[in-house]
Amino acid sequence: MHVDIVPVGDLDRGVKREASTALRSIYDCEVSVHDQQNIPDGSYDSSREQYRAEEFIDLAKRVGSGGKNIAITPNDLFYHRRNYVFGLAYLGGSGSVISTYRLHTSSDGGFSQRSAEDIFSDRVRKEVVHEVGHTVGLEHCDNKFCVMNFSPTVREVDQKNESLCGSCQRDAL
Ligand SMILES: [Zn+2]
Ligand SMILES: [Zn+2]
Repeated sequence: MHVDIVPVGDLDRGVKREASTALRSIYDCEVSVHDQQNIPDGSYDSSREQYRAEEFIDLAKRVGSGGKNIAITPNDLFYHRRNYVFGLAYLGGSGSVISTYRLHTSSDGGFSQRSAEDIFSDRVRKEVVHEVGHTVGLEHCDNKFCVMNFSPTVREVDQKNESLCGSCQRDAL
């Protein structure tokens, strides 16, 4: 598998590095980082002051050079009726997206002895592994430590591991 990371908007170098390392270590795949892309035209909803997640997935699919392509953006995303999303992917699809916007929040699920950067990096890693997991056919997992567990808030993100549980690992192959 080859995953192309497509930075959209002004994305930190550290984020690209963390995302690459996590994807390589969990999926044992080839990872490349695409040139930075502009925010997709028309993706901004001015009444919500947020961006439509679907349009970032479309962009990643359009420009990405991988079998799987993940957009990563610092901009705040929403999807349909959900107030915000950390990320979005279609099951078995070739594109996905994560937003780092809400991963900076200070609540850290009880790991307060760790630095804010460490906590943020961990969240980025888990979110990319999670969304790419959907694209390799994985649905949400009931195991709260599995990276495929659904995490509506950073608290749940912090509680889970970066890796797939045994059952998801078997299903991903
Ligand atoms: Zn999910
Ligand atoms: Zn699992």
